[in-house]
Amino acid sequence: MSDTVAPGPEKLQYQTEVKQLLDILAHSLYTEKDIFLRELISNASDALNRIQFEMLTNQDVTDADAELAIWLEPDRDAGILRISDSGIGMNREELVTNLGTIAHSGAKAFLNGVEPGETSVEEIIGQFGVGFYSVFMVAKEVRVTSRSHRPEETAWTWISDGGSEYELVPADKENRGTEIEIRLKDDDSDFADAWRLEEIVKRHSDFVSFPIYLVEPVEPADAETGEDAEETVEAEATDEDGAGVSQTKLNSQTAIWRQTPSSVAEEDYNQFFRQLALGADDPLLHIHLVTDSPVDIRTVLFIPPKRPDDIFMAHREDGLRLYSRKILIQKHNRDLLPEYLRFVEGVVDSEDLPLNVSRETIQDNPATRQISQTLARRVLRELDRLAGRDAKAYDRFWDQFGMFIKAGLATDFERRDSLIGLLRFKSTKSGDDWITLEQYAERMPANQKSIYYVEGPDLDAARRSPHLDYYKAHDLEVLYFSDPVADAYLSMSLMDFREMKLVNVDSTDVEVPDTVSDEEVPTEAGEALQGLVERFKEVLGERVEDVRSSSLLVENPSRLVYAGESMSRAFERMSNLMGQEAPQQKRILELNPDHELVRNLKARQEADPADPLLTELVEQVYDNALLLEDMHPDPAAMTERILAIMVAASRA
Ligand code: ADP
Ligand code: MG
Repeated sequence: MSDTVAPGPEKLQYQTEVKQLLDILAHSLYTEKDIFLRELISNASDALNRIQFEMLTNQDVTDADAELAIWLEPDRDAGILRISDSGIGMNREELVTNLGTIAHSGAKAFLNGVEPGETSVEEIIGQFGVGFYSVFMVAKEVRVTSRSHRPEETAWTWISDGGSEYELVPADKENRGTEIEIRLKDDDSDFADAWRLEEIVKRHSDFVSFPIYLVEPVEPADAETGEDAEETVEAEATDEDGAGVSQTKLNSQTAIWRQTPSSVAEEDYNQFFRQLALGADDPLLHIHLVTDSPVDIRTVLFIPPKRPDDIFMAHREDGLRLYSRKILIQKHNRDLLPEYLRFVEGVVDSEDLPLNVSRETIQDNPATRQISQTLARRVLRELDRLAGRDAKAYDRFWDQFGMFIKAGLATDFERRDSLIGLLRFKSTKSGDDWITLEQYAERMPANQKSIYYVEGPDLDAARRSPHLDYYKAHDLEVLYFSDPVADAYLSMSLMDFREMKLVNVDSTDVEVPDTVSDEEVPTEAGEALQGLVERFKEVLGERVEDVRSSSLLVENPSRLVYAGESMSRAFERMSNLMGQEAPQQKRILELNPDHELVRNLKARQEADPADPLLTELVEQVYDNALLLEDMHPDPAAMTERILAIMVAASRA
């Protein structure tokens, strides 16, 4: 015997965040309580995947020959449900870390910031799932007895009533794996009904790849009357007390991705997705691909219905499930698809996958390289097809994931053309529809040589842009670049389309058809504006690059033009986004000689060159232009001047 004293029963405190979560669960009015079973089965299935993977290289485990399965054993009379698995198991320390703390850093941060009344279980599920602790929605008390696969470990029982502490007691469990005994709350005793369990498993866990058995005592009368004749009674055995039990398999275990695509019904894909994503919504699109050459690939990929809230968080666990010969070798693979397609979910099964998949092995291994090429190409192609087949569905895709396609354009030069085909835009002529660059190019006049876009912090602001005056008046279409991040990337990475330059209509390199530049052909009104222009220059001084009269304005009195090319404009915006304080290129203030305000200012200037109100008005014209460019450093500072102008305007 070893001389170390085995630790005895002990009470331990939950980590603060777990207490918070348990408190939220205890006070929840969430009605979909049956998801607790899905969560526990999912954990059991994970544990089975892990032992299966371990045994590929290590046979020295407890119970090496045990069947890999999950058992549900309801006891209606006692109000108890037992869920057990022959998975990897947990030792004492693992019980403490896995069931006493929350490892998920995002969940921890989230829970730290909320009071119990402030958040709901739905919200938590939406953010990161509740996992194991969801059992406390239905349990008075939970006992988890587990024996690790490591032969030297002994079994332990973890006991909790969902309060602030839990207990650990040595146990004498002989076989490997985990058994969860749930003492059900009185209102939730139906979870000990066999029919209820069967229904929940079908709905939430049918595709789990290990058998899920319902274990029931065999009543001698049943056997004789043959009541159960239609059920697939897989086995009959005797339990510890010597009484007979029957095992009925509840799930179909279908590996849907290994089937012929034509044999799988739409609803099966949807159900598989819901079970895979542990969610309630159907996917936007599924992609089922089965090929043998040049590499073996069996895959079902999904475009989820929504962009997950935490998709940009570093801690997010996403990626594809990788199987090789039906064994799960990686749960969250991020290397088989390019980074910008990280919203794609699904399963990839291939005999050509190395058991140890890492970024290096993907690049070094011709088979994995081939697989990842095929997957990326296929995803983009299916998205393109979706657009052709169901424009509404594609619009939903674009709304949720368009920014990823734009990001892809900045990084994936190999698939540039496919990505450009997937781009959608709103424009001055598109109304509520989305258009492609192709559509834009098709309907533009023959003498138009470039593609126009206007930027704005959002769509409404972009629509109000004074830079659009000329284009609206001349019936020229302009694209809206109104996503401050994604479109900043886009303007950097999409410089041309079909040899036509994409130009920002606020820049000096924009060429309008049959160019009528005010510098070349000054209008009469423009020439006559010289005095006022000088006054503007005097007042604004170094703040502007230049002040000039413009023939490109119609409805607006003024605008600020970027004194450079679209490309350096895009670069400036990008640098600002990345937090680099790039020196801002000064703007040119353009005035509309035909606008009533400008005409009035001119008259004032001529009547009394020293008019103090004129200075205030010049300042305000400049501030308005800054506001429209989303460049005003301190809008509130204008109130005083606006007040003075209002006082002057309101004089009877
Ligand atoms: P998640 O499954 O997202 O990791 P859970 O709260 O569902 O979170 O489970 C917490 C952890 O407890 C799991 O990661 C796993 O390590 C452990 N665990 C839970 N159930 C089992 C089980 N049946 N067998 C082995 N480990 C388990
Ligand atoms: Mg889980």
